[in-house]
Amino acid sequence: MTARVLDGKAISAEIRKEIATDVAEFTKQHQVTPCLAAVLVGEDPASEVYVRNKQKACEKAGLRSQLHRMPIDTSESDLLARVEQLNQDDRVHGILVQLPLPKQIRETQILDTVHPLKDVDAFHAENVGLVVQGRPRFLPCTPQGVLQILHRSDVPVAGKHVVVVGRSEIVGKPLANMLVQRDSHLGPQAVNATVTICHSRTADLAEITRQADILVAAIGKAKFISADMIKAGAVLIDVGINRSDDGLVGDVDFASVLEVASAVTPVPGGVGPLTVTMLLRNTLTAAEIQVA
Ligand code: NDP
Repeated sequence: MTARVLDGKAISAEIRKEIATDVAEFTKQHQVTPCLAAVLVGEDPASEVYVRNKQKACEKAGLRSQLHRMPIDTSESDLLARVEQLNQDDRVHGILVQLPLPKQIRETQILDTVHPLKDVDAFHAENVGLVVQGRPRFLPCTPQGVLQILHRSDVPVAGKHVVVVGRSEIVGKPLANMLVQRDSHLGPQAVNATVTICHSRTADLAEITRQADILVAAIGKAKFISADMIKAGAVLIDVGINRSDDGLVGDVDFASVLEVASAVTPVPGGVGPLTVTMLLRNTLTAAEIQVA
C-alpha cells in the first residue's frame, strides 16, 4: 500500500476561492469590507512570518487587515488597552493577538478581553463553551482545517475511532470536542466520531494509536509517530510543525508511514495552509454577525 497524500494546499486554495466569492458578495450587499486586526507584540521571527501570511491571505480574499505592532516590553495593561480599543472600533470585525506573548503578559487575561463577537481564533471562554455545547459561533482555525481536510478528501469520520495525540487548548482539545459532536452546525459534517485523547501522561501510547482509524498528531515532536505506532490503512493527519535539520517536518515520520497508512497529510502543505484559510472564514463570519 502506498498512502494517498492529502493535499492541504489544493484544498485550502479551493476554500479561499469560495471565501473570496462570499466576501465580494458581502461587501457589495453591506458596503462594508470585513477587516481583521492582528496585534503583534515583539519581533519573534516565526510570529512575523505567520502575521505576514495572514495579512497577504486577507488581501487576496478581498478582506482588509490591520497590523498593530507593539514593543517586546509592552505591559499587560497597555496590551489590554489596545485590545479594548479594537473591541470598540466598528471598522474592525476580527481581532487576532499573535501568540506566544512575552512573559510579563498573562495570555488568558488578553484572550478573555477580546470581544467574543470579534474572537476569530475562538479562544475566548464563551466561544470555547459554545463549541463544546455543539452550537459554535466560530470554529477554532486549526481544528476546523483538520475537519475540512477529512471532509474534502472524502474520508468518512462518523463511527470511526479517531485518536488525537495532544490536548492543547488550540488544537487537541477543541478538535476532539468537534469530532464528537452529533451535528455540525458550522463547517463540514466530519462529526460523530468515537474519540480518544492522548497526552504525555498516557500509558502505552502506541497501544492506543494502533487502534486509530484516523490518527491526529498535534504533539510538537519531530517525526514522533512512526510506522509501528499505526494500524494498516489508518488515515494520518499531521498538525505538527517542527524546525529540524531537514527543514520543516511534522510529528509523523512521513517516509516510514507511507507503506502502512492509507492517507497522510504532508508537512509542509497539509494542515498548515488550512489554518490561515479558516481565519479568513471566521473574519467573514464575524463581519456577518456584526452587521446583522
Ligand atoms: P502544545 O505544546 O500546546 O501541546 C502538545 C501536546 O502534545 C500536549 O498535550 C502534550 O501533552 C502532548 N505531548 C507532548 N509529548 C508527548 C508524548 N511524548 N506523548 C504523547 N503526547 C505528548 O502544542 P500545540 O497543540 O500548540 O501544537 C502542537 C504542534 O502543532 C506543534 O508542532 C505546533 O507547531 C503545531 N501547530 C500547527 C498548526 C498548524 O497550523 N498546522 C497550528 C497550531 C500548532 P501534555 O499536555 O501532557 O503536556
